[in-house]
Amino acid sequence: MARFVLLERNKAKRAVELLENEYKDSKYYLNFKTPIDLLVAAILSAQTRDEVTNSVTPALFKKYKTAKDYASAKPEELAKQISRVTFFGNKAKSIVNACKIIYEKYRGRVPSKMDELLELPGIGRKTANTILINAYGIVEGIPVDTWVIKLSGRIGLSTESDPDKIESELESYVDRKYWKNITYVFKNHGRKICQSQVPICSQCLIGPKSRNQLCPQNGVNASK
Ligand code: SF4
Repeated sequence: MARFVLLERNKAKRAVELLENEYKDSKYYLNFKTPIDLLVAAILSAQTRDEVTNSVTPALFKKYKTAKDYASAKPEELAKQISRVTFFGNKAKSIVNACKIIYEKYRGRVPSKMDELLELPGIGRKTANTILINAYGIVEGIPVDTWVIKLSGRIGLSTESDPDKIESELESYVDRKYWKNITYVFKNHGRKICQSQVPICSQCLIGPKSRNQLCPQNGVNASK
Protein backbone atom coordinates (compact mmCIF):
# COMPACT_ATOMS: atom_id res chain seq x y z
CA MET A 1 0.00 0.00 0.00
CA ALA A 2 3.04 2.23 0.29
CA ARG A 3 3.06 3.97 -3.07
CA PHE A 4 -0.54 5.00 -3.35
CA VAL A 5 -1.23 8.58 -4.32
CA LEU A 6 -4.22 10.53 -3.09
CA LEU A 7 -6.36 11.94 -5.90
CA GLU A 8 -7.60 15.51 -5.82
CA ARG A 9 -11.06 15.51 -4.32
CA ASN A 10 -12.90 16.55 -7.49
CA LYS A 11 -11.17 13.78 -9.45
CA ALA A 12 -11.92 11.25 -6.74
CA LYS A 13 -15.59 12.23 -6.78
CA ARG A 14 -15.64 11.91 -10.56
CA ALA A 15 -13.98 8.47 -10.44
CA VAL A 16 -16.63 7.24 -7.98
CA GLU A 17 -19.45 8.69 -10.12
CA LEU A 18 -18.14 6.96 -13.25
CA LEU A 19 -17.83 3.62 -11.49
CA GLU A 20 -21.27 3.98 -9.91
CA ASN A 21 -22.74 4.68 -13.32
CA GLU A 22 -20.91 1.77 -14.95
CA TYR A 23 -22.08 -0.74 -12.34
CA LYS A 24 -25.39 0.82 -11.44
CA ASP A 25 -27.15 -2.55 -11.13
CA SER A 26 -24.79 -3.72 -8.39
CA LYS A 27 -26.45 -5.17 -5.36
CA TYR A 28 -25.70 -7.06 -2.18
CA TYR A 29 -24.32 -10.50 -2.88
CA LEU A 30 -25.45 -12.71 0.00
CA ASN A 31 -28.83 -14.45 0.02
CA PHE A 32 -31.21 -13.77 2.92
CA LYS A 33 -34.88 -13.16 3.64
CA THR A 34 -34.97 -11.77 7.17
CA PRO A 35 -32.71 -9.50 9.26
CA ILE A 36 -31.61 -12.48 11.36
CA ASP A 37 -30.69 -14.41 8.17
CA LEU A 38 -28.69 -11.40 7.04
CA LEU A 39 -26.86 -11.03 10.35
CA VAL A 40 -25.89 -14.71 10.28
CA ALA A 41 -24.86 -14.65 6.59
CA ALA A 42 -22.80 -11.50 7.14
CA ILE A 43 -20.93 -13.06 10.08
CA LEU A 44 -20.29 -16.23 8.05
CA SER A 45 -19.03 -14.28 5.04
CA ALA A 46 -15.96 -12.75 6.73
CA GLN A 47 -12.92 -14.00 4.77
CA THR A 48 -15.13 -16.56 3.03
CA ARG A 49 -16.13 -16.50 -0.63
CA ASP A 50 -19.74 -15.45 -1.25
CA GLU A 51 -20.42 -18.65 -3.17
CA VAL A 52 -19.41 -20.71 -0.14
CA THR A 53 -21.52 -18.63 2.23
CA ASN A 54 -24.50 -18.84 -0.12
CA SER A 55 -24.08 -22.61 -0.35
CA VAL A 56 -24.12 -23.01 3.44
CA THR A 57 -27.03 -20.76 4.36
CA PRO A 58 -30.06 -22.47 2.74
CA ALA A 59 -29.94 -25.50 5.08
CA LEU A 60 -29.08 -23.23 8.00
CA PHE A 61 -32.00 -20.87 7.39
CA LYS A 62 -34.33 -23.82 7.09
CA LYS A 63 -33.32 -25.13 10.50
CA TYR A 64 -32.86 -21.84 12.37
CA LYS A 65 -35.43 -19.14 11.71
CA THR A 66 -35.28 -16.86 14.74
CA ALA A 67 -32.77 -15.37 17.15
CA LYS A 68 -34.19 -17.72 19.79
CA ASP A 69 -33.40 -20.74 17.57
CA TYR A 70 -29.75 -19.70 17.27
CA ALA A 71 -29.56 -18.64 20.94
CA SER A 72 -30.70 -22.13 21.97
CA ALA A 73 -28.21 -23.92 19.71
CA LYS A 74 -25.01 -25.47 20.98
CA PRO A 75 -22.06 -23.70 19.32
CA GLU A 76 -20.40 -27.02 18.48
CA GLU A 77 -23.59 -28.22 16.76
CA LEU A 78 -23.84 -25.03 14.76
CA ALA A 79 -20.13 -25.23 13.92
CA LYS A 80 -20.65 -28.59 12.25
CA GLN A 81 -23.29 -27.12 9.99
CA ILE A 82 -21.13 -24.20 8.92
CA SER A 83 -17.85 -26.13 8.67
CA ARG A 84 -17.31 -25.04 5.05
CA VAL A 85 -16.76 -21.41 6.03
CA THR A 86 -13.49 -20.14 7.48
CA PHE A 87 -13.16 -19.85 11.25
CA PHE A 88 -16.40 -21.78 11.64
CA GLY A 89 -15.85 -22.49 15.36
CA ASN A 90 -15.45 -18.84 16.30
CA LYS A 91 -18.24 -17.80 13.96
CA ALA A 92 -20.61 -20.33 15.53
CA LYS A 93 -19.84 -18.91 18.99
CA SER A 94 -20.35 -15.34 17.75
CA ILE A 95 -23.71 -16.21 16.18
CA VAL A 96 -25.00 -17.99 19.29
CA ASN A 97 -23.79 -15.24 21.63
CA ALA A 98 -25.07 -12.42 19.42
CA CYS A 99 -28.46 -14.09 19.15
CA LYS A 100 -28.65 -14.56 22.93
CA ILE A 101 -28.29 -10.80 23.31
CA ILE A 102 -30.79 -10.15 20.50
CA TYR A 103 -33.29 -12.54 22.08
CA GLU A 104 -32.87 -11.32 25.64
CA LYS A 105 -32.31 -7.59 25.15
CA TYR A 106 -34.16 -6.83 21.91
CA ARG A 107 -36.99 -9.37 22.06
CA GLY A 108 -35.59 -11.28 19.14
CA ARG A 109 -35.37 -8.31 16.76
CA VAL A 110 -32.03 -7.50 15.16
CA PRO A 111 -31.22 -3.94 16.35
CA SER A 112 -31.51 -1.14 13.83
CA LYS A 113 -29.05 1.23 15.51
CA MET A 114 -25.31 1.28 14.86
CA ASP A 115 -24.24 1.41 18.54
CA GLU A 116 -26.53 -1.50 19.43
CA LEU A 117 -25.24 -3.61 16.54
CA LEU A 118 -21.63 -2.90 17.48
CA GLU A 119 -22.22 -4.39 20.93
CA LEU A 120 -22.96 -7.78 19.39
CA PRO A 121 -20.16 -10.38 19.15
CA GLY A 122 -18.81 -10.79 15.62
CA ILE A 123 -20.18 -7.45 14.40
CA GLY A 124 -17.89 -4.61 13.33
CA ARG A 125 -18.74 -1.45 11.41
CA LYS A 126 -18.68 -3.17 8.02
CA THR A 127 -21.24 -5.77 9.08
CA ALA A 128 -23.31 -3.23 11.01
CA ASN A 129 -23.48 -0.94 7.97
CA THR A 130 -24.37 -3.93 5.80
CA ILE A 131 -27.24 -4.90 8.12
CA LEU A 132 -28.57 -1.34 8.41
CA ILE A 133 -28.54 -0.86 4.64
CA ASN A 134 -29.84 -4.22 3.49
CA ALA A 135 -32.23 -5.14 6.30
CA TYR A 136 -33.61 -1.72 7.17
CA GLY A 137 -32.74 0.63 4.32
CA ILE A 138 -30.82 2.84 6.76
CA VAL A 139 -27.73 4.30 5.14
CA GLU A 140 -25.53 5.45 7.99
CA GLY A 141 -22.15 4.60 6.50
CA ILE A 142 -20.21 2.72 3.84
CA PRO A 143 -19.45 -0.97 4.45
CA VAL A 144 -15.69 -1.18 3.94
CA ASP A 145 -14.78 -4.67 2.77
CA THR A 146 -11.56 -5.95 1.20
CA TRP A 147 -12.53 -4.64 -2.24
CA VAL A 148 -13.21 -1.15 -0.92
CA ILE A 149 -9.86 -1.20 0.87
CA LYS A 150 -7.99 -2.40 -2.22
CA LEU A 151 -9.66 -0.14 -4.79
CA SER A 152 -9.64 2.93 -2.55
CA GLY A 153 -5.87 2.59 -2.33
CA ARG A 154 -5.30 1.91 -6.00
CA ILE A 155 -7.55 4.68 -7.25
CA GLY A 156 -6.26 7.17 -4.71
CA LEU A 157 -9.51 7.65 -2.83
CA SER A 158 -7.78 7.03 0.47
CA THR A 159 -4.24 6.41 1.69
CA GLU A 160 -5.45 4.83 4.91
CA SER A 161 -5.30 1.09 5.57
CA ASP A 162 -7.60 1.01 8.59
CA PRO A 163 -11.18 0.26 7.42
CA ASP A 164 -12.80 2.72 9.86
CA LYS A 165 -10.49 5.53 8.65
CA ILE A 166 -11.17 4.64 5.01
CA GLU A 167 -14.88 4.77 5.75
CA SER A 168 -14.62 8.25 7.31
CA GLU A 169 -12.47 9.52 4.49
CA LEU A 170 -14.79 8.25 1.75
CA GLU A 171 -17.83 9.58 3.58
CA SER A 172 -16.23 13.02 3.78
CA TYR A 173 -16.56 13.54 0.02
CA VAL A 174 -18.46 10.72 -1.70
CA ASP A 175 -22.04 11.79 -2.37
CA ARG A 176 -24.32 10.13 0.19
CA LYS A 177 -26.54 8.75 -2.54
CA TYR A 178 -23.66 6.42 -3.49
CA TRP A 179 -22.98 5.05 0.00
CA LYS A 180 -25.59 2.35 -0.31
CA ASN A 181 -24.03 0.65 -3.34
CA ILE A 182 -20.41 1.70 -3.48
CA THR A 183 -19.20 -1.51 -1.82
CA TYR A 184 -20.95 -3.67 -4.42
CA VAL A 185 -19.86 -1.39 -7.28
CA PHE A 186 -16.22 -1.74 -6.21
CA LYS A 187 -16.60 -5.47 -5.85
CA ASN A 188 -17.95 -5.79 -9.39
CA HIS A 189 -15.22 -3.58 -10.79
CA GLY A 190 -12.65 -5.59 -8.86
CA ARG A 191 -13.93 -8.89 -10.15
CA LYS A 192 -14.21 -7.71 -13.73
CA ILE A 193 -11.37 -5.25 -14.31
CA CYS A 194 -9.43 -4.15 -11.24
CA GLN A 195 -8.57 -7.72 -10.43
CA SER A 196 -6.86 -8.59 -7.22
CA GLN A 197 -3.53 -9.91 -8.53
CA VAL A 198 -3.16 -8.04 -11.84
CA PRO A 199 -5.66 -5.30 -12.70
CA ILE A 200 -6.55 -4.85 -16.37
CA CYS A 201 -5.87 -1.11 -16.42
CA SER A 202 -5.88 -0.98 -20.24
CA GLN A 203 -9.60 -1.81 -20.21
CA CYS A 204 -10.57 0.36 -17.25
CA LEU A 205 -12.96 3.28 -17.71
CA ILE A 206 -10.85 5.41 -15.37
CA GLY A 207 -7.53 3.89 -16.44
CA PRO A 208 -4.54 5.33 -18.33
CA LYS A 209 -5.95 4.54 -21.78
CA SER A 210 -9.47 5.77 -21.07
CA ARG A 211 -10.62 9.26 -21.93
CA ASN A 212 -11.15 9.88 -18.22
CA GLN A 213 -7.63 8.98 -17.05
CA LEU A 214 -8.41 9.46 -13.41
CA CYS A 215 -6.77 6.49 -11.69
CA PRO A 216 -3.09 7.16 -10.90
CA GLN A 217 -2.19 3.49 -11.51
CA ASN A 218 -0.75 2.17 -14.73
CA GLY A 219 -1.31 -1.53 -14.24
CA VAL A 220 2.27 -2.22 -13.25
CA ASN A 221 2.29 -0.81 -9.75
CA ALA A 222 -1.37 -1.41 -9.06
CA SER A 223 -1.01 -4.99 -7.96
CA LYS A 224 1.38 -4.01 -5.16
S1 SF4 B 1 -6.75 1.90 -13.75
FE1 SF4 B 1 -6.12 -0.11 -13.02
S2 SF4 B 1 -5.77 0.12 -10.81
FE2 SF4 B 1 -6.98 1.87 -11.51
S3 SF4 B 1 -9.11 1.27 -11.13
FE3 SF4 B 1 -8.63 0.78 -13.24
S4 SF4 B 1 -7.97 -1.35 -13.19
FE4 SF4 B 1 -7.88 -0.58 -11.09
